[in-house]
Amino acid sequence: MNTLHLYNTLNKTLEPFTSIAPKHVGIYVCGPTVYGPPHLGHVRGPIVFDVLRRYLILQGYKVRFVRNITDVGHLVGDADEGEDKLAKQAKVEQLEPMEVAQTYTDAYNSVMDRINVMKPSIEPRATGHIIEQIEMIQTIIEKGLAYEVNGSVYFDVMAYSQQSHYGVLSGRVLEDLQAGAGNQSRSLEGQDEKRNPNDFALWKRASAEHIMQWSSPWGKGFPGWHIECSAMSARYLGEHFDIHGGGMDLLFPHHECEIAQSTAAHDRAPAKYWIHHNMITINGQKMAKSLGNGIMVEQLFKGEHPLLSQAFGPMTLRFFVLQAHYRGTLDFSNDALLAAQKGWQRMQSAFQLVSNLPTVNEGATLDVADVFSSIVSSLNDDLNTPQAIASFFELSRRINLVNDGKETITAETKTSMQQLIQDYCKGVLGLIPEDAGAGDGLSDAMDIILSLRGQAKADKNWALSDQIRDALKEKGFEIKDGKEGTTWNKL
Ligand SMILES: [Zn+2]
Repeated sequence: MNTLHLYNTLNKTLEPFTSIAPKHVGIYVCGPTVYGPPHLGHVRGPIVFDVLRRYLILQGYKVRFVRNITDVGHLVGDADEGEDKLAKQAKVEQLEPMEVAQTYTDAYNSVMDRINVMKPSIEPRATGHIIEQIEMIQTIIEKGLAYEVNGSVYFDVMAYSQQSHYGVLSGRVLEDLQAGAGNQSRSLEGQDEKRNPNDFALWKRASAEHIMQWSSPWGKGFPGWHIECSAMSARYLGEHFDIHGGGMDLLFPHHECEIAQSTAAHDRAPAKYWIHHNMITINGQKMAKSLGNGIMVEQLFKGEHPLLSQAFGPMTLRFFVLQAHYRGTLDFSNDALLAAQKGWQRMQSAFQLVSNLPTVNEGATLDVADVFSSIVSSLNDDLNTPQAIASFFELSRRINLVNDGKETITAETKTSMQQLIQDYCKGVLGLIPEDAGAGDGLSDAMDIILSLRGQAKADKNWALSDQIRDALKEKGFEIKDGKEGTTWNKL
């Protein structure tokens, strides 16, 4: 494909991408609810939307990328019932809810840095935008599309559906939803206040013991989960913006409710393109606490999980994620990660050869024009990163052929190779050499230290080998002795 096409969930079609304002793109992505350490389910979306952002930047767009932090309003039941996820964790850890939010926001962002995800242009927090949320709720009430009961405010789905299409994104039909909702227990908290079981909370009254609460025109309370994204996307990207992203698990009810709220308040749909990435599985199963297969990102980086035989680096993780198309499922397994690590290392070794490849002035037997165009056309085809990676493997193969003296290239082809690696592998896919952040030569230096430590162990000088390990640990390097030798990790 010659230009970027994206699958728009709103219209369920692959559409050419055109920005609302020339050369500017606004992207809003639903960020994490920060009440626990980041797990593998947290990395796919950020990597996918990072590639999209980087590709748009390469094409000359100025991108404003907004990714929020949900630190209030996301209730345990994911609907309108149960305790606030943050408040609950704060009780468990005996912390202020904002300490919980800060701890896990930092943990999340540190993982984002390590997997080379660009920092958002703006990272708004729900608790920092209570006023915007209250104002938006007021507007929706004024339009007759929300109502207050006992200090809580609910969105009136029936009134809204008289003038707009509720279900436009998810394709759910209100009548079917009604039937389903009718079977739900009416005893769910707040259900008896709703005019209709499908109505959802914009604002919830807080009981006295509820720790997170704010003053509002309806008394003390806290915002519903969905309203923050409508309020913050409008605040930073305008009432109509280019791209809204998130996981498929957010499609309903979260994104459906976002569209309803924004359309109710602004008389127009918020985003032009809705992009959803698929979910991850672990050894073919959904990741869930109850299954005991939840893998935290740190556990992956350290190799400390019963399902993992070793540590995997951040770039192996990124490479692995990009080896699947974002709309397909992605299954984590130790074997698949090992294969990804091998592939990524093989590719890197080939790329390191390029600057020293010989060139010829005429009679070259090989070029890479076809590889170049296939990488571009793969990315244009709804960000087909697995196909782009396959082309990078083809590039590696050709680099090795030239390096082995079996084929020849011109200086121009060599420049194309370098440009592909720089602009598309590092630039768009965001795949950089593993130790790039730690300075050149680090792995060589570590090899020397570890081989000296190996010598100390062979001499049964345990004191020295422990001393080296402890000294490195103090500087943030973790050494692990395994069956296949010693590995190291930067903590
Ligand atoms: Zn959201």
